[in-house]
Amino acid sequence: MSEYEAMLAAAIKEARQGLAEGGIPIGAAIFDQSGKLIGAGHNRRVQHGDPSAHGETDAFRNAGRQRSYRNLIMVTTLAPCWYCSGLIRQFGFRTVVVGESRTFQGGVEWLRSNGVEIVDLDNMDCVTLLGDYIRAHPEIWNEDIGEE
Ligand SMILES: [Zn+2]
Repeated sequence: MSEYEAMLAAAIKEARQGLAEGGIPIGAAIFDQSGKLIGAGHNRRVQHGDPSAHGETDAFRNAGRQRSYRNLIMVTTLAPCWYCSGLIRQFGFRTVVVGESRTFQGGVEWLRSNGVEIVDLDNMDCVTLLGDYIRAHPEIWNEDIGEE
């Protein structure tokens, strides 16, 4: 298992926790260069009735105040949406590990074109976990990505 795959495992664990809570299974985790976990979180739209609680924003909040994000790695089970891509750019993350971008591409190409390194692991556990949820709850998924 590569270092990035080990990091993704922490985000998948968060996604599974979200699913167990009755929420959308998307998880994220922030690591430093040495592989130390700084913060983790998962989408809590359903649990908290909070449309701004995406996996990435939840991990970002749980990481607390950081002096710099340039050497931190954002790891997420799904390609970050535009909102979270904005967060990644705003705070200067330079590396984003993506579990999969088949289900949703979000701002991946935009991030790449702005010099952010995207490591797309194309992980089938991530594809299946979210795909099964979307088939069961298409309306919640559409709500999450801002589509009608
Ligand atoms: Zn997002």
